[in-house]
Amino acid sequence: MALDRPLQPMDDFVYWKFSKNGSFTTKSSYAMLLSHSVSSRISGTIPASWWKHFWGLPLLPKLQCFCWKLLHNALPLSGTLQLRGIPIDPTCVFCYQERETTDHLFRDCSITSHLWASAPIAFSSPLLHEKPFTDWFVDTISELRSFQNWDGLVSFVSFCWAVWIARNHKIFRQAVLSPGVIFHLMQDWISRSVLAQGFRSLVRSLRNSSLTSSVASNSCYIQGDFSSTFDVCLLFDGAWNAQNLSAGAGWIFREVFSDSALGGGSRACHSSSALQSELQACLWALRAAGRRGFRRLLIYFDCSNLFSLLRDGGNGDIFCHWLLYEIRLYVLQFSICKLRKVPRQWVAPAHWLATQARRRQLLSWTF
Ligand SMILES: [Zn+2]
Repeated sequence: MALDRPLQPMDDFVYWKFSKNGSFTTKSSYAMLLSHSVSSRISGTIPASWWKHFWGLPLLPKLQCFCWKLLHNALPLSGTLQLRGIPIDPTCVFCYQERETTDHLFRDCSITSHLWASAPIAFSSPLLHEKPFTDWFVDTISELRSFQNWDGLVSFVSFCWAVWIARNHKIFRQAVLSPGVIFHLMQDWISRSVLAQGFRSLVRSLRNSSLTSSVASNSCYIQGDFSSTFDVCLLFDGAWNAQNLSAGAGWIFREVFSDSALGGGSRACHSSSALQSELQACLWALRAAGRRGFRRLLIYFDCSNLFSLLRDGGNGDIFCHWLLYEIRLYVLQFSICKLRKVPRQWVAPAHWLATQARRRQLLSWTF
């Protein structure tokens, strides 16, 4: 029963444990599926690391999804559909000689082979037929990526996409197939990719410029109104060892306008994350401040994750949920709590205490 329980009775709530903040997202469920046994089944022999790089390639998402389907045999090709029990003519509509399968339609069909040989693609003609289709497709993309030949990459994928679109036009709209039409389709999608790439660079440059122009604030009030009068400056820090999950908390009370320490303390504990140990340190430090009768606190700490959690809300990890809840309740008894995220050296004495507690040199100490 290694389950963290709330410190006070509270109602049940729905929690999605595969995301950090407990909220369901499609992204987190996809990551969960990939990390489980499903991954070996759907990804076949292609390593997860390859897919990771693949999703970062400068390709239109539509074309990336197309490649994913193509490599997972998930395109509704006639030969594939017939194998799945659908009564359909499995013959390739390009050559009318073989079954329409992924390797046939996109590479081995006599018509497609001819098109590959004459296509205006921005890289040297791929070696056809020498490798199994999946290896060939994956290796071609990997090679283009390693040479950062993005034009070649876009051509390669756009060509396959054009073959697919032309095949669909022929089946569903009785369109007449010609190399000119396929190359025109390919060129059209290359142009779209180039436009999208330009737009993406523009958005990125705008985003970067807005980031640099706005200076992120490093202080906020979590209790009380704006005030510059404080009883004490409270420094706290947490220490955590990921190997054995041992943790420690340390805090120091200091005069606001001098370095004189008024007291402090430390405690040893166990935590499941660095953030949890920071939250635990925060709670113990606040309780110590409450016991000492301080009401207007200027609080210094160095953990930016904790700062955004306390300032912007969110529940954080489930292990942090109860601590955050306790902290929010506890600060209500103070008249002022101003948080300030400071450089590590500013909280060095609290850090030293926390480290000693984590090492079990100091188990529980106040002064
Ligand atoms: Zn064919």
